[in-house]
Amino acid sequence: MPSYDSNNIFAKILRGELPCYRVYEDDKAFAFLDIMPRAPGHTLVLPKAPARNILDITPDDLAHVAKVAQKIAQAAIKAFGADGITVQQFNEGAGGQVVFHLHVHIVPRKAGIPMKPPASAKEKPEVLAEQAKALAAAIAAG
Ligand code: 5GP
Repeated sequence: MPSYDSNNIFAKILRGELPCYRVYEDDKAFAFLDIMPRAPGHTLVLPKAPARNILDITPDDLAHVAKVAQKIAQAAIKAFGADGITVQQFNEGAGGQVVFHLHVHIVPRKAGIPMKPPASAKEKPEVLAEQAKALAAAIAAG
């Protein structure tokens, strides 16, 4: 398998070299909104450690990402009035991965509304800013 490339776009976001709509951060994990959401509130949860995907992340870092993913899923139900949550995580190109820093997709779902195809359209900055604020507040409220 290829090794981790520290020039990937999410590594740049983690280093603060590129902007993002952040919703959560702790010492080992970081979460921000997907700019091409498959549904409103689509969030990505990343380890801060330089892991390419599930094939090279340490078990402890993976467990922490899972805990944060649960926290964000629970908050997203409240923040977006979602009826359910789809969780996705892709590994290597053949597995559907496009950006090679491990991330878990948290996609809030409304009953009867299908997800948009991947990378179908960029959401408006003002919409993402408002959604990030609402989700961060719901996460902070626990
Ligand atoms: P995957 O690697 O799991 O297939 O998906 C990568 C995800 O990253 C896609 O859902 C895509 O919309 C999202 N994405 C790609 N570039 C950016 C970016 O610059 N910022 C953010 N926030 N999301 C991105």
